Amino acid sequence: MKKSIIAALIGASFALSGSVYAGVTTADIENDAKSTGDVLSWGIGTEGQRYSPLSQINTSTVKNLVPAWSFSFGGEKQRGQESQPVIANGKMFVTGSYSRLFALDAKTGKKLWQYEHRLPDGIMPCCDVVNRGAALFDNLVIFSTLDAQLVALEQDTGKVVWKEKLDDYAAGYSNTAAPIIAKGLLLTGVSGGEFGIVGRVDARDPKTGKLVWTRPTVEGHMGYKFDAAGNKVENGISGTTNKSWPGDLWKTGGAATWLGGTYDSKTGLAYFGTGNPAPWNSHTRPGDNLFSCSTVAIDVATGQIKWAFQGTPNDGWDYDGVNEFVTYEAGGKRLGGKADRNGFFYVLDANTGKFENGFPFVKKITWAKGLDKDGRPIYDPANRPGDPTKGADGKKGEMVFSAPSFLGGKNQMPMAYSPDTGLFYVPANEWGMEIWNEPITYKKGAAYLGAGFTIKTLPAADIGGDYIGAMRAFDPKTGKLVWEVKNNAPLWGGVLTTKGGLVFWGTPEGFLKAADAKTGKEVWSFNVGTGIVAPPVSWEQDGEQYVGVAAGWGGAVPLWGGDVAKKVNFLNQGGSMWVFKLHKG
Ligand code: CA
Ligand code: CA
Repeated sequence: MKKSIIAALIGASFALSGSVYAGVTTADIENDAKSTGDVLSWGIGTEGQRYSPLSQINTSTVKNLVPAWSFSFGGEKQRGQESQPVIANGKMFVTGSYSRLFALDAKTGKKLWQYEHRLPDGIMPCCDVVNRGAALFDNLVIFSTLDAQLVALEQDTGKVVWKEKLDDYAAGYSNTAAPIIAKGLLLTGVSGGEFGIVGRVDARDPKTGKLVWTRPTVEGHMGYKFDAAGNKVENGISGTTNKSWPGDLWKTGGAATWLGGTYDSKTGLAYFGTGNPAPWNSHTRPGDNLFSCSTVAIDVATGQIKWAFQGTPNDGWDYDGVNEFVTYEAGGKRLGGKADRNGFFYVLDANTGKFENGFPFVKKITWAKGLDKDGRPIYDPANRPGDPTKGADGKKGEMVFSAPSFLGGKNQMPMAYSPDTGLFYVPANEWGMEIWNEPITYKKGAAYLGAGFTIKTLPAADIGGDYIGAMRAFDPKTGKLVWEVKNNAPLWGGVLTTKGGLVFWGTPEGFLKAADAKTGKEVWSFNVGTGIVAPPVSWEQDGEQYVGVAAGWGGAVPLWGGDVAKKVNFLNQGGSMWVFKLHKG
């Protein structure tokens, strides 16, 4: 990010300090996990480990952690702050609910500028008005909006440099994920799986927003490359049309890539999780319904799917497999871990997708009896919601009780991996649902479920206590649960782990917590006054380590009722950024 004065002069700029901020490069992004003065990508490194190599704040000093500053997002749009901030050149960029972006002085919290995207009436976000963060490239900060657009702004001024439409919001498309940069390309997914959209991954030139390739994640759709003039050039069908989908259902097949992706420069692959096949009623679409509920590994250089691993073939429970695929090194192998919404944790070879290991990370799973040697679920047909055409009145299929609930063993809140402990830190939830199927036909812009449901808490006897959330540390090699910290309300914020031997996470009750990464013993907490549903980050500036997290209750949980509401309906919304550092003296 720094270049010498000579390089600066060649670039026709001048700096008395001898170095100048030259913007974020591809090399900076590939080194993000190691560079401590910045946070350049969603995941604190595109591999998604959410591990900080900083140790000034550690198990001994964390007791002295105090607020450095707090910044209010303002306005009346106080709900669902799921954003991970990015930080470069002493500036923090954090997105807020309703497609807002704030640029702040990372050291003081002073506002530099803010951008409020003008949203049309009629946007259709399924699960609150959230945004999960921005990408940085060169002198730009780039984020996506609820009306399915991408906006790139100048980091220094907030001036809009380019805007591109991802897709038609009136057809149910939106976008809430943080874009990522891989091999110098901007990669984005789409949201809208509850409206029968077609999931895909797009690659663009981050400087201009122009498309480079697009890769659909529903089997049967054509991928395209784009030439210099912007013309579409066919780039191969994703899979084989009608191989895993009957009739025309693949045309509105869902598999939304709504949580974005990760990228590993060692494999050259970008890993995007995909959501439910549409509609939810699985009896309409016999077959595996590729590539729904999968991890799809895309060769960034070609835009081709190199491999896909499907957690829930022919999903009938809305077990979106969007969860982040976090790559790491173990036993001389490049592996990836994923805590799937369906309740199973998968370890795959990051190069080939080969199944290495799988185990439940929640205590109650009803929909499958286990995994076979290839990681495919062993179904119990009696635990699948029934076919409505076979119901007594042809309008409602047999209801079943399923766990996890459709909100998942884990949802959007990203986990962390520590290379020091070799453990994954998984924010898990224990809950179930009554679910049944109904007849449904596709109509543009209308919910496309064919299912009804009621979320339920689980009996204490089934899960070892009266709680929903649990922060759990797992050894990915053995599947052993090393420690857990239970939480009354469902956990909905992500995780940070550090060289200081700590794990940080926030709770809906408003506590940012730190625990010993080896034992789970809570060593620090602070209440920010509203629920936390975002992942914390850490960075250093002028010799001091900072920890920051966006705060503001919301997201999908409070939108759904059932007896879960009793655990969350007293929580207050908010919208702010909180930053902490060690007290001196
Ligand atoms: Ca970094
Ligand atoms: Ca879904």
